[in-house]
Parts: sequence; C-alpha cells; structure tokens
Amino acid sequence: MVQVFHDQDADLAMLKGKKIAVMGYGSQGHAQAQNLKDSGLDVVVGLAKGIDDSWEKAEADGMTVMTVAEAANQGDLIQILLPDELQARVYAEEIAPYLTEGKALMFSHGFNIHFGQIVPPANVDVIMVAPKSPGHMVRQMFTEGAGVPGLVAVQQDYTGKARDIAMAYAKGIGCTRAGVFETTFQEETETDLFGEQAVLCGGVTELIKAGFDTLVEAGYAPEMAYFECLHEMKLIVDLINEGGLSLMRYSVSNTAEYGDYMVGPRIITEETREEMRNVLAEIQDGTFAKEFLLENQTNKPFMNAIRKQEKESLIEEVGAEIRALMPWLKKTRR
Ligand code: NDP
Ligand code: MG
Ligand code: MG
Repeated sequence: MVQVFHDQDADLAMLKGKKIAVMGYGSQGHAQAQNLKDSGLDVVVGLAKGIDDSWEKAEADGMTVMTVAEAANQGDLIQILLPDELQARVYAEEIAPYLTEGKALMFSHGFNIHFGQIVPPANVDVIMVAPKSPGHMVRQMFTEGAGVPGLVAVQQDYTGKARDIAMAYAKGIGCTRAGVFETTFQEETETDLFGEQAVLCGGVTELIKAGFDTLVEAGYAPEMAYFECLHEMKLIVDLINEGGLSLMRYSVSNTAEYGDYMVGPRIITEETREEMRNVLAEIQDGTFAKEFLLENQTNKPFMNAIRKQEKESLIEEVGAEIRALMPWLKKTRR
C-alpha cells in the first residue's frame, strides 16, 4: 500500500509570501482558489474577459481577477485549471513568457505534461495537486471543515522544494485533511483517463443505456426502465461508496445479491475485459490523446454531433419528466 500524508506532513509556511495564480474559475478553479484564500494564502485568479461568465463569478466571490498573462506575471505558483484542450495554447501565449526562474508550474491533471503538449523550461518546478473529486465537492467539504483526498506528483524539482510546495498547496485546498497520495504524472494521467473512459463515464452511461434499451425494446414502459436502470444507480453507488461492494450486497435483497453474482460476469464478459485492455493500450501509446487533440483542433465535429444526438435520446426525454417529480434531486452543480 502507498503512504498517505496528512495535515502534519504539510507546512503552509512554504507558501507564505508567495502569490498563487489560479488560472480558470470553473469546476476546479472556483473551489481551489476559494479554499486557498480561506487558508490565508495570497491568491489571484487569471481569466479571459468575455469568454463566459467566470470573470463576474470570481469577482462576486471576492477574488482578485486579472488576465491570465497578468496573473502569470504576478504569480510565484501558477496553477493551470483551464480545460485540458486549451491549456497548451494559453500556456504558450500567456504563461510561458512570464515563467521565470524558480516559479512553480502546477496542474490538477497530467495530460498536457505527460503527452508533451506543454514543455516547461528546466528552471521551474513542475508539480501536480489533483483533488480526487469534482470541484463542487472540493469546495463543499472544505467549508464543512473536511476535505477530499488528493494526489501530488513532482515532474521537475528545480528549487529542491517542489514536493514541499505541492504538499503545502494540497493542505491549502483541504486535501491533507482527508489524505494525500504520492503519484507520478504518468500514473495519474493514464489511470484518470482509463477510469473515466472505461468505468466512470463511458462504462456507466453505456451500461445504463443498454439496460434501458433492452427493457423498452421488450415493450416495458420507458418510465419503469428509467427507474430501474438509471434512477436507482445512485442508491446502489452510494452504498458501494460508503462500504464497498460488501455493504451494497449486504443491503440489497438476497434475490438481488444472487442475481448480481450470477449475471454480472455475463454482462462484463472476457470480451469486455479484453476491450478494456485495448482502451488502456490506446491511452498509454498516445492514440487517445492524439484523437482528442485533433478533435479540438477541428472545432469538435464529433462532440457537437454526439452531444446533440445523446441529448435528444428517449432516456433523456423520459428522465427530464421523471426528475421534475423529484425537485429535491436538484443541487447546485458547476
Ligand atoms: P472547467 O471547464 O470547469 O473550467 C475552465 C475555466 O477556464 C473556466 O473558468 C473558463 O472560463 C476558463 N477558461 C476557458 N478558456 C479560457 C481562456 N482561453 N483563457 C482563460 N480562461 C479560460 O474546467 P475544470 O475545472 O473541469 O478542469 C480544469 C482542470 O482540472 C483540468 O486539467 C481537469 O482535467 C482538471 N480536473 C478537473 C476535475 C473536475 O472535477 N472537473 C477533477 C480533477 C481534475 P469561462 O467559464 O469564462 O469560460
Ligand atoms: Mg479526468
Ligand atoms: Mg429493483
């Protein structure tokens, strides 16, 4: 098992007298910037005016907001929390010119460093602090006096203090309250991409859709199919999240538990596992990264088409109707 680091392993004093420039104020940016500020650290937010609404939001939250270039100029630590596909361009145009000796370049995901889209100069630290949670949870847990687990990694240690700076930053956003794991840019990037593709996002959505379609094709009401294949997912996942597979299996009926063992391996077959290995190989050899970057350079033809198609699907139509009956499901999400 890897070592886990806590509050006592990190020293906020490493960041005293330093200015932290948080680039972006989206899911991660709004959470990390506010947590750092509440930890008594000197934070500025770097944004582009008029892209969306982040600038106004950050100002309304009492942040000091400026352009990315200005924030890069002022910041000793530069945390890049822009969309992954935009980071390389913004870095080249607005950050690199101000990345002077001894500064720290930071990320919450290793994509652009690992796949060589950003190549920092040798005379800066390059580190990662990655909360293992969506941004709104990073903020919510912090305000409740807790924190979400996080990862730290050091790609380049010019000052000899890169790791201590990363730990201090992790403490500033609340991650050491829960626990921090040390990893590498490569391991974080590859496991993160694999998890979201094969299991968390790609795997789950296709599993839900396949179950829903099977019931609807067989003539059952879409509303029933929605409840069984989508709505109840959260109830089951909450149990797994709280107490592992065992608690979930303890909590459901014996009938459900028996069906779980009997049928699960018929759904996720050896063929599926083999395909997971292929997916992992395409992450490892850069095939996925190349396709994602090309997609973005050609103005997202695939994303635009598939988003529309998926939005207009029956499961989304029925879902909107059913969720309207449960107003308590609505929570603030960035
Ligand atoms: P979001 O898309 O939520 O936010 C991006 C932010 O960047 C917005 O504030 C946006 O402003 C701003 N922005 C967009 N384009 C520009 C530009 N050209 N110049 C300046 N600012 C710009 O990103 P996430 O928080 O989801 O992701 C940030 C990083 O964190 C990524 O590396 C991601 O992989 C990583 N990460 C994300 C997690 C998550 O929970 N979402 C979890 C762990 C890591 P505007 O709104 O005005 O467009
Ligand atoms: Mg990810
Ligand atoms: Mg049932």
